Amino acid sequence: MNNYKVLVVEPSNVYQLVIQQLLEENNCNALFTRTGEEALELVDCSNFDLICIAMELQDMSGSELCHKIRQIAGYSQTVPLVIITTNENNATLELALRAGATEIFHKNSLVKFAAFLERQAFKTNHNKHNTGNILYIEDSLSQSSIVIATLSNQGHHINHFQRAEEALEAFEDDSYDLVLTDIILDGPLTGLDIVKAIRKNEEHLSIPILAMSGLSDTQQKLDILRSGANDYIVKPVIQEELIVRSQNLITSKKRLDSLETQQQHLQELAMKDQLTNLFNRHFMMESGPKTVQQAHRHGYPLSMLVIDLDKFKDINDQHGHPTGDSVLESIGATLLNCCRGEDIACRFGGEEFVILLPHCGLSDAELKAESVRQAIEKSKPAGLLVTASIGSSSLFVGDQQDTIASVFARADHATYLAKDGGRNQVASVSKNPESDADE
Ligand code: GH3
Ligand code: MG
Ligand code: MG
Ligand code: MG
Repeated sequence: MNNYKVLVVEPSNVYQLVIQQLLEENNCNALFTRTGEEALELVDCSNFDLICIAMELQDMSGSELCHKIRQIAGYSQTVPLVIITTNENNATLELALRAGATEIFHKNSLVKFAAFLERQAFKTNHNKHNTGNILYIEDSLSQSSIVIATLSNQGHHINHFQRAEEALEAFEDDSYDLVLTDIILDGPLTGLDIVKAIRKNEEHLSIPILAMSGLSDTQQKLDILRSGANDYIVKPVIQEELIVRSQNLITSKKRLDSLETQQQHLQELAMKDQLTNLFNRHFMMESGPKTVQQAHRHGYPLSMLVIDLDKFKDINDQHGHPTGDSVLESIGATLLNCCRGEDIACRFGGEEFVILLPHCGLSDAELKAESVRQAIEKSKPAGLLVTASIGSSSLFVGDQQDTIASVFARADHATYLAKDGGRNQVASVSKNPESDADE
């Protein structure tokens, strides 16, 4: 509960010390004062997260102080006011609750107060994850100042506009967790127009909209909800209701966001090779046939390189498996560097890589193979000379019998030829291996 600011209004030195210890154990930032008047001055110019008040003060009762604090802007409902007392008179305690105290703890059993502090700590940490960036549109400045104070007090960040046009511009420039809009606004556009403009774009469907209006007309409410607002609040705004409704929407939005991030991460894990960050074999098997089909359909060339590192077993044997791993990682980066945006580079297995080259014919693929070979030879990963044998082949565009598997078989055969020819070289195969005349 770091930065949790607590004001303690307590005339007794002994109890000040006891409370101080409890607050320190909970990492609170505590400030002490003895009188009601001093407390009111401090409350007026500072934001406290919790105020602890003794029932008997020199200049006023604890109840009176609670009542006066609740009149101060920002303290009307949200900040807990806790009475710590030896008084057991029920009528007096009830008076304090009616004056705005949140809870009462007896000085003889401060364990309960300690438990309360722990609960507050949980709430504060919990809330931190749920505070949001709010776009707020309201033309009345008196209304907006109350709403801004209430929501900032909850830790939200609020960007306020009086006109719909400015708000919509701001909406495009930033990412928001909630749009809170008044319906009747100054200017040609209304809150309903804002709802419609935001909902027009599919990408913004997950951003919640809370509409507010002084008109409690059912038809109007339905129009707004049908246009895509998630919730509706009637003015004059009840602060607790505003807090809870906006919090609910922000919390759902954040849960959805984190689910989406998780899903993206899982998708990435499923299609990427962890060591090299290239695509994996699974991805090539999934996307390769689609890419080949597109090339057939649209009649553009497509080629493939199969890259096999030379004598890689020796690198492992001489320098250890971890060095072998770091070589593979670095070769992955070298290959990515050689790729255009549309090329698909993947680690097909151990020390074997495949690059699929859409819009690339065999002669260009041969040039590409040679430049990749040179890049690998020059790269000296982990300070070692590493070379590769590279085979290339191309799709027989328009021949539906020619599949990704047959393109791979030819490129793989070409790699075998490059190995056979003495390694660290490129070779290409333009006909199926079954026929006699391989090149
Ligand atoms: P060639 O020039 O004929 O391709 O010889 P080579 O040693 O590269 O080929 P071989 O297929 O005999 O050996 C491949 C080696 O790659 C054996 C295996 O231990 C190593 N290897 C495969 N996957 C990994 C890996 O993820 N990390 C490391 N460090 N080594 C790997
Ligand atoms: Mg208005
Ligand atoms: Mg090898
Ligand atoms: Mg191999």
